[in-house]
Amino acid sequence: MIGDPVAHSLSPVLHNAGFQAADLDWVYVALPVPAGRAPEALAAMRLFGLGGLSVTMPHKEAVAAALDGRLSASAQLLGAVNCVRWDGDDLVGENTDGGGFVDSLRLEAGTDPGGAHVVLLGAGGAGRAVAVALAEAGVDRLTIINRDPAKAARTAALIGDVATVGEMDAVRSADIVVNATSVGMGLPASDGVLPCPAGLLHGDQVVADLVYQPLETGLLRAAAERGARTVNGVGMLLYQAVRAFEHWTNTSAPVAAMRGAVDALIA
Ligand code: NAP
Repeated sequence: MIGDPVAHSLSPVLHNAGFQAADLDWVYVALPVPAGRAPEALAAMRLFGLGGLSVTMPHKEAVAAALDGRLSASAQLLGAVNCVRWDGDDLVGENTDGGGFVDSLRLEAGTDPGGAHVVLLGAGGAGRAVAVALAEAGVDRLTIINRDPAKAARTAALIGDVATVGEMDAVRSADIVVNATSVGMGLPASDGVLPCPAGLLHGDQVVADLVYQPLETGLLRAAAERGARTVNGVGMLLYQAVRAFEHWTNTSAPVAAMRGAVDALIA
């Protein structure tokens, strides 16, 4: 993994647990690489024949630019790569973040966003990735709400007709509500700091939070109190890694072992 900072990343533990459970003689290490040096890291991947690369801040856009033309559809649309894999002698950039979120909805909440009205709160890096993946998953409507509405509009424009910029009241009519803002991060649920008014949530909804520290955010507590089904951010963390693992190794990821490793770290 390349990024700056990388010291606190959970990814090494997650992937190394996966390699061990799959009996692969692989190791995942986090390498601090300063801004501007991503092309050299790609050259090193080629030189050393590394099996794969994870890419985190501040390199996601630079790696996409350096792999110009060799990008998955979502990485191309987002202009951001979080995973580099081999295709024969070529390197290909993927973006597994949004797909990992959709996998977590399907596999952990038993909810398919296909045909649903989804309200997405937030339009930062994670919000954009989730928006693109929700569109790929066939949502009926995606309403994007962001503190800076211009960013919501840019995200909606990536997607096309299915996405619009909305007002907070739209949360009431959503089948699925997704918090992709950082509101609630690092705060106990009892603080009651929410990215949308609690009164807009109800029992016919699935409410997902990308935040995973704490596991139960104020939003998820308020949603559960109103009878909604809730999904925390651990599933996205897990399934974006599962997708990367499968890109690199061409084998099924040992999801239970990876889940156990991440639960042991976060719980
Ligand atoms: P980012 O690019 O910095 O975007 C932050 C987002 O939060 C923006 O939409 C921003 O709105 C909004 N925001 C920040 N403070 C706010 C406030 N006080 N009120 C309303 N909106 C506020 O960050 P990111 O990478 O997208 O990450 C967003 C969250 O997702 C973080 O909590 C991160 O930990 C989490 N995340 C989880 C996973 C996972 O695997 N579960 C993966 C990636 C990220 P403006 O645009 O108006 O500033």
